[in-house]
Formats: sequence, C-alpha cells, structure tokens
Amino acid sequence: MKDLKIYTDKDIDINIIKNKKIAVIGFGSQGYGQSMNLKDSGCNVVLGLRLGGKSDKKAKNYGFKTMTIEDAVKWADIIQVLIPDEIQADVYEKQIKPNMRAGQYLMFAHGFNIHFKKIVPPDGVNVIMVAPKGPGHTVRSQYTEGKGVPSLIAVYQDPSGNGKEVALSYASAIGAGRAGIIETTFKEETETDLFGEQAVICGGVSALMKAGFEVLTEAGYSPYMAYFEVLHEMKLIIDLVNQGGLADMRYSISNTAEYGDMTRGPKVIGEASKDAMREILKNIQNGSFANEFMNEMKSGQKEFNRLREENASHPIEKIGEEIRSSFKWGRNENIIDRNKN
Ligand code: NAD
Ligand code: MG
Ligand code: MG
Repeated sequence: MKDLKIYTDKDIDINIIKNKKIAVIGFGSQGYGQSMNLKDSGCNVVLGLRLGGKSDKKAKNYGFKTMTIEDAVKWADIIQVLIPDEIQADVYEKQIKPNMRAGQYLMFAHGFNIHFKKIVPPDGVNVIMVAPKGPGHTVRSQYTEGKGVPSLIAVYQDPSGNGKEVALSYASAIGAGRAGIIETTFKEETETDLFGEQAVICGGVSALMKAGFEVLTEAGYSPYMAYFEVLHEMKLIIDLVNQGGLADMRYSISNTAEYGDMTRGPKVIGEASKDAMREILKNIQNGSFANEFMNEMKSGQKEFNRLREENASHPIEKIGEEIRSSFKWGRNENIIDRNKN
C-alpha cells in the first residue's frame, strides 16, 4: 500500500517487551485478553487490581500474580491501563501518579483520557498506546487459534526515544503482529474510534436493526421472522464483507437482493443520516461528547441505566433470547464465560 505501513511480526523485536516488567491494570475485557496473551508469549506480567475483588479471583484462577494498583505501578516498567475510560483519571490521580517514576511507559488501549486531557502525565514518563481493533475476549480467542486482532499503536510522549519500538513489541506479544499493526496518533485513534462505535458499528447498526424489526412487526409480521431477517443474518452477511468487501457480499447474494441493496439502501441511509453523522463527529471533536459522558458517569449514571433498561426490554432482545436458547448456534461459550473472563 502506498501511504500505509502495516507492521507484522517480521518487522518487530519481541524481546524488547520480554525484557520489561508489565503491570496490566484491570482484568476486564481487554485486561483478560491482553494479559493472557502476554503471558503465553513469555512476558513478565502482573495484574494491578483491587485485591479480593472479582477480577482478582478471576486473574488468580488463570495463575496470575496480582498486586494492588499502587504496588504494581512501583514494580513495573510498563503500566497498561485497562480499566473503564470513565474511572481512569480518578485511579490515575490517586493510585498511579503518586507511584510513577520518570522513564516508565504509561500505556493505554484507547486515547480518550490523554487526548481529552483528563490525564496529564509528567514530561519524564513515556505515553504510548496499543489499541486492539476488536473486543478483549476476541483478542484472546484469536490468539489461541494462532491468529491475531489488528491493532493501532501511537506515541504521545517519548522521553526515552523508543516508544514506538516498545509499542510494536507489546502489540506483537498480544498477537497483533500476526494480523497487522498500524501507527496512528492519540487524536486520530480517539476521534475515529468514538465515531465508528457511535455512528456505525455499535450505535448505527443496533438502531438500524431495531428500526427494521419495528417496521416488520408493526406491519403484522412474526417477530421471529423479523429477528432472523434483520438481526441473525447480519453476521452471515458481515462475514462476507469482512473477507472480501461489499463486492464479495454482492457476489454471494441473489441478483434480487443486490438490486434491492443498491437501489434501496441509500434511501435508508442518505443525506439526513450523513448530516446526523457530521453532527456526531463535531461533538466528538470539540470534546462535548467526552464531557457529557464523564458527567453522566460521575453523577450516578441515571440516564445511562435508564437507557440500558429500555434497550434490554426491547422486543428484539426478548425474542432473540428465546430463539437463541432453542438453537445451539446462538452460543459463544468458548469466547465469553462471564464467570471466568
Ligand atoms: P472493562 O470495563 O472490561 O474493565 C473492567 C476492569 O476494570 C475490571 O478488572 C474491574 O475490576 C476494573 N475496575 C473497574 N472499576 C475499578 C476501580 N474503581 N478501581 C480499580 N479497578 C476497577 O474495561 P475494557 O472494556 O476492557 O476497557 C479498558 C480499556 O480498553 C478502555 O480504555 C477501553 O476504551 C479500551 N478498549 C476496550 C475494548 C474492549 O474490547 N472492551 C476495545 C478496545 C479498547
Ligand atoms: Mg472504543
Ligand atoms: Mg433474504
């Protein structure tokens, strides 16, 4: 590719990361996926956690050494912060910053807190990012299959002068070098990640599926049929897109479907939707989404919880639960087991 360098394992010295002490803070989605892969790649990993809590028990079950966040930060060369974005700044101020020293590498899997200046590390600390472009449980499941999830790396502050090499080495150890690693900036990663999840892959897609389900059921069609047509088949179609673009999808579907796709799709997602997307992007860029989210989380998450409830009780979710429990293809037990990972 002309302007895009994609790094893979052959470009990377994995020994850089093997010779460093890594504290992974948090054992949630990314904490689980990344620390398991680091360990299997031969790295020296400790989990920084609330001792005695749920994550502590899960991590110990996988054989990890766990420490308080404070002790893990003191012990480590590299601190990978994998707790929810909305609490990172608090935990940073109280537990990380007082125990950090110059020359350490403070790492993130998303640029949110650094880019929006919720966390402002001292000049002597290296600030880098390794952001897998997939869920943490998939970072793990792909690795165990000998594959990897493509990841972004970025360097924000580089007093030691080797931030990029360290980020690449870490990315390789979590399996990303088997797929491909791309360098970006904290600003670009943060803004495009937020836009993608809000407008398209999470927000856009779930709103699209719900709207389609509502239109079919309001017109009197069976909710079971509606579920299969607008939700279940989504993955089968997206797998084709993921492999070979829209062209592979269109190669496989009928001419009827392809003609309907190209003539009707733009009527659903047209200029009005693009205007809404532009507005969403503007609110990401000017920091107002970040502030709104942080305020909501700090003031008791009332609206967030209300929305969760409203969404959980949508008929598409109720019908989906019923359908998936009667078919074995609905289960993904090997990737997510809420008691274990
Ligand atoms: P998560 O919500 O799964 O993290 C949960 C972990 O944080 C648990 O170990 C929990 O005990 C710990 N935790 C929660 N509150 C805490 C507190 N007050 N003190 C100490 N520990 C606390 O997090 P995640 O979704 O894996 O996200 C971690 C980072 O990775 C975020 O920056 C996120 O944007 C980024 N990221 C996530 C994904 C993903 O797949 N979820 C993908 C790419 C990037
Ligand atoms: Mg994100
Ligand atoms: Mg069809």
